[in-house]
Amino acid sequence: MADTPRDTTRGAGTVARILVVGGGYVGLYTALWLQRKLRAGEAAITVVSPDPYMTYQPFLSEAAAGNISPRHVVVPLRRVLDACTVVVGEATAVSHAERTVTVRTAASMEDGTGTFGMPYDELVLAPGSVARTLPVPGLAEHGLGFRTVEEAIGLRNHVIEQLDIASSTRDPDVLEAALTFVVVGGGYAGVEALAELQDMAAYTTRYYHNLKAEDLRWVLVEPEARILPEVGEEMGDYAVRELRRRNVDVRLETRLVSCEGRVAHLSDGTVLPTRTLVWTAGVRPNPLVGATDLPRDAEGRLVCTAQLRVAGTEHAWAAGDAAAVPDLAAAEEGALCVPDAQHAVRQAKTLAANITASLHGQPLGEYRHAHAGSVASLGLHEGVAYVHGRRLKGYPAWLLHRVYHLSRVPTFNRKARVLAEWTLSGLFKREIVSLGSLEHPRAEFESAAGREPPGGPGRR
Ligand SMILES: Cc1cc2nc3c(=O)[nH]c(=O)nc-3n(C[C@H](O)[C@H](O)[C@H](O)COP(=O)(O)OP(=O)(O)OC[C@H]3O[C@@H](n4cnc5c(N)ncnc54)[C@H](O)[C@@H]3O)c2cc1C
Repeated sequence: MADTPRDTTRGAGTVARILVVGGGYVGLYTALWLQRKLRAGEAAITVVSPDPYMTYQPFLSEAAAGNISPRHVVVPLRRVLDACTVVVGEATAVSHAERTVTVRTAASMEDGTGTFGMPYDELVLAPGSVARTLPVPGLAEHGLGFRTVEEAIGLRNHVIEQLDIASSTRDPDVLEAALTFVVVGGGYAGVEALAELQDMAAYTTRYYHNLKAEDLRWVLVEPEARILPEVGEEMGDYAVRELRRRNVDVRLETRLVSCEGRVAHLSDGTVLPTRTLVWTAGVRPNPLVGATDLPRDAEGRLVCTAQLRVAGTEHAWAAGDAAAVPDLAAAEEGALCVPDAQHAVRQAKTLAANITASLHGQPLGEYRHAHAGSVASLGLHEGVAYVHGRRLKGYPAWLLHRVYHLSRVPTFNRKARVLAEWTLSGLFKREIVSLGSLEHPRAEFESAAGREPPGGPGRR
C-alpha cells in the first residue's frame, strides 16, 4: 500500500502531483490539455492506464470490417502525452482521505511487490465503463464483447473462421451454428458492429465455392421497441427497415434468455444454434469506482458537480462514462449527461481548465454542452444521422459519419493514416483473411516441439 504520506502542505513553488486514472477519452484529453495549459515545472502529470494507448471506439466496427488497421484505431499515449509520465497498470482502489491510488503493474505483480500506492495532490478519476452483463445462463462462457480493439479484431477473425468451418463441414448442425450470428443490443455499438461485419462477411462469401451471402443468418436482438435511440425515432425506424432489407433478422422487444451449449434462446421462443453471440447491451460504470471512498449514485457513478469536481470533495475530479455529471443544457431539471464520447471530450476540456484554475487560485467554470446529435454507420455507404435537429439517411449520413469521425480521431498522424486506408480500400478489394492464429503466436513452435497447440489440433 501507500508508502508516501498524504501531502497537505503543498506550498508556493512546489510541484502539484496530478494523477489521471484512465487513458481513454477523458484521461487522454485531460492530460493533453493540462500539459498545454500548465507552465513547465508547475505540475507533474501521471497517467495510469492498463493499455499504453487510447482506443477510438467509434472506429472499432470499421476495424472489425477490415477498413481500418487495428493500430490506427488506437492513439499511443506516450507519443501524445510527451510531457506526462505514463504508467501502464491498473488502479485497484482509491483512498481520497489518504490521497493515494493503489496500483498494480505487470512488473509489480512479477517481482512480488503486488500493489503499490501512488500519492497525488489532484486526482482525475476517468476509468470509463464496462459492459453491462445480465445473469443470462451461458453468457459468460460464450458471449463476445465489443469494446476493445482486441475484441473487434478477434470478432473479425472469428466470423471469417465460421465461414471456413461452414465451408468444410458436412454436418448440418455445425453448418447452421457456424452461419448464425447473433448480436444483442441495438445501440450504436451493436448496430454498427453487426452492419459492418455483415457487409464484410457477405463480401467474403464470394471467395467460397460452396457459400452464398444468403446462407448467412444475422439476428439483432433488442429488448426495446426501437434501435439507435441516439438518432431519434424516425431514423431508428429507417435503420430497422434498412437492416431488414439486407436480410438481417431484427427482433425488437425481445430478450436473450439463455445461450448455454451454444444455443441462443430468445424470449419470443426462438431457438438459434450459434457459435457467435455478441453482447453489446449497455454499459455500467467501471467497478473501480466502487473501490473508492468517493460518493456514488444509485447507478454506481461518481457524483459530480457541474464543475466536474467529485461532489463534497476537494482535489478529486471526474468525467466521462464513470461520472454522473449534471446536464445543464437539458430541458428537464436534474438531467445527467449521457455516457458518450461527445460529452467525454468536452468535459475533459472543462476539467483541465478547472484544475488549472484551481491551481492558480482562479474561479472555476461549469460544464455545459448542448448535444449536437449523433451519426451511425450501417455498413459501407449506408448510415443514419440526427444532427442539430436535421435527419439524414443513406449515403449522405454515411459520408457525414466518416467526415465527423475523421475530424474527431486524435492526432493528425491518425487522421492521415485513416484517410489513406479508406482511400486504398475504395481502390482495392477487401482483405478477407482470418488471422486468428495471431492470438496463438507460440502454436507453430509448440507443435514443432511436439506439444499440442492450445485449442487442440488444427487450432493454430
Ligand atoms: C463500440 C463502441 C462504439 C462507440 N461509438 C460511439 C460514437 O459513435 N459516438 C459517441 O459519442 N460515443 C461512442 N461510444 C461511447 C464512447 O466511446 C464512450 O462514451 C467514451 O469512451 C467514454 O470516455 P471515458 O474516458 O469515460 O471512457 P473510456 O474512453 O472507455 O476510457 C476509460 C479508460 O480507463 C482505463 N481503465 C479502465 N479501468 C482502469 C483501471 N482500473 N485503472 C486505470 N485505468 C483504467 C481504460 O483502459 C481506458 O483507457 C462508443 C463506445 C463503444 C464501446
